[in-house]
Parts: sequence; C-alpha cells; structure tokens
Amino acid sequence: MKITKSKVLKQKPDFSKLGFGKYFTDHMLVMEYENGAWNEPEIVPYASFPMAPATNVLHYAQSIFEGAKAYKNDEGKITVFRIDDNFVRMNNSAKRMCMPQFDAAVVKSALFELLKLESEWIPTRPGTALYIRPFMFANEEVLGVHASKKYVFCIILSPVGSYYAHGLEPTKILVEDELVRAFIGGTGEAKCSGNYACSLLGGEKANALGYDQALWLDGKEHKYVEEVGSMNIFFVIGDEVVTPQLVGSILPGITRKSCLEVLKKYGYKASERRISIEEVVKAYEDGTLKECFGTGTAAVISPVGVIGYKGKDMIVNGGKMGEITAFLYDKITGIQQEKYADEFGWVTQIN
Ligand SMILES: *Cc1c(COP(=O)(O)O)cnc(C)c1O
Repeated sequence: MKITKSKVLKQKPDFSKLGFGKYFTDHMLVMEYENGAWNEPEIVPYASFPMAPATNVLHYAQSIFEGAKAYKNDEGKITVFRIDDNFVRMNNSAKRMCMPQFDAAVVKSALFELLKLESEWIPTRPGTALYIRPFMFANEEVLGVHASKKYVFCIILSPVGSYYAHGLEPTKILVEDELVRAFIGGTGEAKCSGNYACSLLGGEKANALGYDQALWLDGKEHKYVEEVGSMNIFFVIGDEVVTPQLVGSILPGITRKSCLEVLKKYGYKASERRISIEEVVKAYEDGTLKECFGTGTAAVISPVGVIGYKGKDMIVNGGKMGEITAFLYDKITGIQQEKYADEFGWVTQIN
C-alpha cells in the first residue's frame, strides 16, 4: 500500500479536553472508484478534497458513513471493537444507496496500517478513544439523477472524549410525534447522511424546548418507538429489558447488539419487539418503567432521565442512571478498555 507521509505533523490537542469530533489526525485513508472498480487504498496527509460545484453528492446525497473506535493501553497495544460489523453494515448501506461494494478485508488491513501510523493520536484515559470515521460519497461531476459512476471511500480519525458535554449524566429526550426520521421501505436502516439531514429539525425542536434529543416514532402510525437522535433506545419495564425490533426503519446498532448479547449472557430478560409510546406512558404511570437508555458507538451507553411527551415530563428512575444502564456501561466500556476479559471475542489487537 502506498503511504505518503505528512511533512509537518500537527500539534496534538490536550487529551484531557477532547470533546467529540473536533480534532483530526495527520493522515487519512483514501480509495477511489472509477471505471467500475476500486483502486488500491492509499494513506495520505489529512487534506481537503478538490470538488467541482456539479459534484453529484452535493445535489443528490449519495453518501454513507460508519463510526467505530480504537483504543490503546499503557503498553501501546492497539485494539479495535467489532470493526468487521462496521464494514458489513457499510456494504449494506452502500447497497441501499446504489453505491459499489468494497472488499472489507482490503479496507480493514489499510485501516490497521493507518492506526499504527497514528498511534500517538490514540488517547488512553478512561472514556477516551480514537474515533474511526469511514465514509463514502459520490464524486462524479454530473447533474443527472442516477447512481454515480465515481466514488471516494475515505477514513479519517479523531481523538475523542465524551460524546455529550455532561458525560454520563442522564439526558432529556422529547418524543417527536409530528416529524419522522424514517419509514419502512425508506433508508432508515442504512447509515446514510440524508437520514441525519432529515433528523436535524426534530433535534432543534427538542433543543428549543430544553431537551437534548428527539425520540423518533415510526413513520406510518406515529405510535411505535424507533430510536433517539443517533442512538438506539432501550427501556427497562418490570423485569424486561426491551428495545424496538429492527423492522426496516431502525439503524441496526452494533452497541445495541452488544447490549442484547451481554444481557442474555448475564441472565437478564432481554427482548426485541415493537413497543408503543402508549406502553411506555402506561409503564411510567403504573411505576414499572424502571430505566431508559440510548446506545451508540460515540456515547456507548447514555442514560435517559427525562422523557417529554405531550407537554408532560416522565422522570425515569428519579432522573438518575439506573442499575442495568450502569451495568451495561461498565461491562461494555470495560471490555473495550481491557478492564474485563474479552469474553465475547469482540476485540481485535492490531499490533
Ligand atoms: C450509528 C447509529 C446508531 C448506533 O449504532 P452503533 O453501531 O451502535 O454506533 C443508532 N442510530 C443511528 C441513526 C445511527 O446512525
């Protein structure tokens, strides 16, 4: 693989104040698609893409992405978490968006080279990681509505701290019962950029009313809970830990899947099924709604303390993080950061 090293290296940020997605490493991985095939991936200095005004991604949004994390321990050992799942999902997203399939093995070994080159950018404090952002976009200079003939596949890296400014503090979410994010037959289960553009207004509405994120309902009946912002959602109702079933409009989260696997292994009653917002309200009213949390690579597990619906706030677990939420956060981040043995085979060492 061709590697072109940057002549000047950037000054590293203060690793105790990283925030999320604000700093980018010295290099990136780029692979281009033209004439029906992918070229070899290359590692090049992190830099802007030259782009014509008529580049089709800017007009028709053929664009997908992924999110994963790499970790480093005090001995310099670099690991990644369930990265194969990210590339499988990315190829699934590509299929839905009429974008070409790529060879995950080729991209994975190029990513590992990039991570080794950028090793000094991987933070080691608890709660920090090097965020991996693979993405692919249409790159043909043409104004016609059809699948592009040219694409760019790229991976950039960003050292990150906590996703939310207030860390593990419970968030406030607002049930959005007018706007929709996705619907069956649409692109909700693909990790495509357009889903996010579509969700921004609901997020802003929630923010304006003092909530952190919108909780989306299904696009057809506005009845069933789907997901929250950029995370999947879980509820603990009585002794059941329940998350919405993947019906076609919900993003199949890798953290979601990991939580289900941990819960099952540790003897919890975990289920995937449709769950209506009325069921959540009823559980709140009769005192069986014990916990609520979101799951996603960026925040890992994010406790929900308040669910706003129809002008009323449901305070979950006294607004505090619940027991099962804390257990999952500790278990999954513990496996990622080597506090616990990798009993599920989720961690890959790359050096
Ligand atoms: C990426 C994403 C998630 C979380 O998926 P993970 O694989 O756990 O990071 C959830 N919902 C949406 C809409 C997403 O884009």
